[in-house]
Amino acid sequence: MPIARRLVCLFTLSATAALSSAQAPHVVTPAEQQKIDAIVAHMTLEQKLDYIGGTGFAVRAVPSLNLPAFEMSDGPYGTRSNTGFPSTTYAAGIGLAASWDRELAARVGGGIGRDARARGVHYMLGPGVNIYRSPRNGRNFEYFGEDPYLASNIAVGYITGMQETGVSATIKHFLGNNSEFLRHDSDSLIDERTLREIYLPTFEAAVKQAHVGAVMDSYNLINGHHATENGYFNTDIMRKEWGYKGVMMSDWDATYDGVAAANGGLDLEMPIGKFMNRASLEPAIKAGKVSEATIDEKVRRILYTATAFGWLDRPQTDDSISVVDSRNKAVALDSARESVVLLKNSRHLLPLQKSSIKTILVVGPDAYPSVPVGGGSAGVVPFHLVSTLEGLTNAFGSSATVLYDRGLPTLSALAHATTFTTTATSGKPGLTLERFQNAELSGPPASTVVVAHIDVLGVSLADISGGVDAFMAAVAAGPKRLSHRHTGFYNAPKAGVYLIAVQGTGEGSGHRVYLDGKLVIDNWSISRSLQPQLSLQLTAGPHKVVVEDKQDGLWGGGVSLAIVDQKEVVNARAIKLARTADAVIVAAGFQSETESEGADRTFSLPFGQDELINAMATANPKTIVDLTSGGNVDSTAWFDHVPALLESWYAGQEGGTALAEILLGEVNPSGHLPASFERRAEDNPTFNNYYPEGESKRTTYKEGIFVGYRGYQHNNVKPLFPFGFGLSYTTFKFSDLTIGPASVGKDVQVTVAFDLTNSGDRPGAQVAEVYVSEDHPILSRPARELKGFERVQLAPGETKHVSIKLNSRSFAFYDVAKKRWSIQPGKFTIQVGDSVESLPLKGSVNITSSDVADLVPQH
Ligand code: BGC
Repeated sequence: MPIARRLVCLFTLSATAALSSAQAPHVVTPAEQQKIDAIVAHMTLEQKLDYIGGTGFAVRAVPSLNLPAFEMSDGPYGTRSNTGFPSTTYAAGIGLAASWDRELAARVGGGIGRDARARGVHYMLGPGVNIYRSPRNGRNFEYFGEDPYLASNIAVGYITGMQETGVSATIKHFLGNNSEFLRHDSDSLIDERTLREIYLPTFEAAVKQAHVGAVMDSYNLINGHHATENGYFNTDIMRKEWGYKGVMMSDWDATYDGVAAANGGLDLEMPIGKFMNRASLEPAIKAGKVSEATIDEKVRRILYTATAFGWLDRPQTDDSISVVDSRNKAVALDSARESVVLLKNSRHLLPLQKSSIKTILVVGPDAYPSVPVGGGSAGVVPFHLVSTLEGLTNAFGSSATVLYDRGLPTLSALAHATTFTTTATSGKPGLTLERFQNAELSGPPASTVVVAHIDVLGVSLADISGGVDAFMAAVAAGPKRLSHRHTGFYNAPKAGVYLIAVQGTGEGSGHRVYLDGKLVIDNWSISRSLQPQLSLQLTAGPHKVVVEDKQDGLWGGGVSLAIVDQKEVVNARAIKLARTADAVIVAAGFQSETESEGADRTFSLPFGQDELINAMATANPKTIVDLTSGGNVDSTAWFDHVPALLESWYAGQEGGTALAEILLGEVNPSGHLPASFERRAEDNPTFNNYYPEGESKRTTYKEGIFVGYRGYQHNNVKPLFPFGFGLSYTTFKFSDLTIGPASVGKDVQVTVAFDLTNSGDRPGAQVAEVYVSEDHPILSRPARELKGFERVQLAPGETKHVSIKLNSRSFAFYDVAKKRWSIQPGKFTIQVGDSVESLPLKGSVNITSSDVADLVPQH
């Protein structure tokens, strides 16, 4: 049969072939590989070059070869979809990690996979697995926390569950993308050992254990080379060391040089072939700078993933699955229930006695509408969303009156309430606005007008929920270079402390604020936070305010600014209601415009929330704070005044229901922190080297392997709440530790076994955490490292025997000189408990030299 006809037969889609049973990606057979080779051999060079550039959110179709388009959708906590169409919205990644539940991760992955199949999506763009270095990173909420072992286990569960539905996960962002400022050109300088021990393992597990179908290269540079051009990571480590066979795609607009990317291991440029295209690669191939075989290989890998997932043999839309899948609602609810971490519960305030509550106040910016996920491309739109306000109202039914007040004005309302005059005395109302057609405020302004307030916002990545259309419209419009300067006078009615709050737009933008000639807020070159704020003592009378902003790229531009007397920021009505209520729930935290992709965030809560929490705690001793955030926040202003504190992260569409169940004791909280919560910002191990050095764009990860709890222990600093910590309404007891002798096959194996008892009177789940330390290391090693865990559900009084297996990797360090993982023979201490600082069981194991001879530790 002529090759063209044979191809048509091979890849004709069968409309009846929709499969809904488990379809884990299979290893491509030699026969299938031959088919792939045949397609590649049949393609012209032009077709191949076109094929390695995407079309928005898809791999392009090639109708002449009967190759369908392979559709993509953002996740990672719902099928955000390329059309803006809603879907089930699950608890975000940091919350999933807080569940320490591999099965739940698989159920969430599976739920998203089913939603994707109902929508014809081939690739889900997630999970995101970048390690949490600092609470400031704007995308921590998408990721799985600070520990590579925990993150790997959650990622493997998620990917496996998803891929069994016939949808490829896309693990992202490879690599060193641990902050959101300067994300296109920041350079993460990370030493080899730190890479191997902290930043690479989750990707490694995704490849080796979960057989992930796609990897997304990040925007930034790692050790001097952009991720999309970084052959060391893309080829040497991913493909040669780990045996990765799937697609390596770029993040959206993260390719900067077609030839370097082609030779640096990138297979697919997204969203379009802006650099890896005919114009740049045809001449490079002719000049011998890129080989055609390299291009063939890229096409082969795209087809490899497609073949492994069966996309060439069946339609991806599975019409046997409901678009609004009721099974997924239950998964979303479980993800919210299991992610909540109870951090503080003085005098057993929680659970609330339903019968003793006649009036309850729900207050705070996150009470209604609640925030299911943070901002940016992870902004999944749910069909329905249970807010904290609705969750509590449903739970109390007619037995209590649920009062509500937002507690604080919005920043936009405050900006409109903030008045200025153009000069210090006898000026006109408003400010002078100068508009420049460049991003440097240089030359004469293109126009000068008087405006009433500072409240003009451009397009932010935080609100690109329009999906592909908004994204592509911005890409098509191209980058803009604009800047503005507002100048005016704020007349402080009396002397006192004033809050100044600013809203910016993150990536592509910059803003700065001068007060009386002094630079007081600076997000000009680095997007340190989307919504910066500060408190300042002002004298009564006029103060000069100059606010500058710029757009220098696809997104950004614009700024809002509000000034308010700190004593007047909290709504008086909220205080009045708090005094009369039997209890107060403060839903505090971030929203998509304050915690998002495209910029970092403040460590402090958004403006006015410290004041709100304190005002509520003063008005009502039964004040419970529930936080929505991707990580820790500065609680110093109110921590001691608040009897109960919960961290709900971004809880997805069912968050309000889950929280109400927990507050009323119908569900026992079981989440444990996937990141250490520092007492003060400066305690974080990355505090002095989180931002780039000087004027450069280079950030050296000076803390090395001592990130997160490894750093707190190394620096002898006690966090407010340690890694792994979480309270319950019941109590647990660990006992009877046994540690099996090390057995050696092709891997070291040590079994750690113990009993876990629910010694209280409520059912509950405990997370048993196993930490390993080397007693006499030859090089500096963390005091202890998480190497095993199990979430165990127990009835009151019940005891379960738990057995956890450790392997070579549990004892090994990365030996840079030998370029391999190594175990130093000797004694290792093993501790078991429910946080890195609460480890009631302790034992040890000896690993002798014969145990480890010639072993390459397994992942
Ligand atoms: C994000 C990715 C996302 C992509 C497509 C990028 O801005 O970094 O995580 O998958 O956009 O929306």
